[in-house]
Formats: sequence, C-alpha cells, structure tokens
Amino acid sequence: MERLTEPYGANYFRVCGNKTVYNRKPQKSSRVAFALAKLFQIEELDEPKKVVMVDGFYGGLACPSCGEIFKSERSPHCPYCGQAIDWKN
Ligand SMILES: [Zn+2]
Repeated sequence: MERLTEPYGANYFRVCGNKTVYNRKPQKSSRVAFALAKLFQIEELDEPKKVVMVDGFYGGLACPSCGEIFKSERSPHCPYCGQAIDWKN
C-alpha cells in the first residue's frame, strides 16, 4: 500500500506531498497531530527493516526496532513489536 506519511529526520515526519513537519511524539491535546503520528507509527512498522545481527553468546538475528532476538522461524513480522522484517542481507 502506498504510504501517506514519510520520515523527516529522526524526530519528525511529514504527510506525503505536504510541507508541514510534525513531531513524532506530539502532545495528546494536539489531536490532529496525534492522529497523524499514530498513522506514521503504523506505516513505519509496515516498512520492512533489515534484520540485525547480534554477536555473542546470546546473539543471533534480532529485530531492528525493538532489539529482541528471534528464537523461532523467520516470520515476515517481529512477534514482539510487529515490525516488518527484511531478511535479505
Ligand atoms: Zn521487534
């Protein structure tokens, strides 16, 4: 599905085709900004991110978003936070 929001730096995002910049963590009182930030979070989870390799005894392949190490078979989404995972290296 085509995204409606896009990242803008580490702390902000924009609605695609719109110049207004929103904080990723807006005040709850700014209801429109808060609703857009929720949409942005959902779209970010759906954007596949590269799986992370963690070295060491407790190492393995880990989620790029929450850092949990995967114990079971490769699934398209992280079972802990829902992040879409790109398994290609
Ligand atoms: Zn995760």
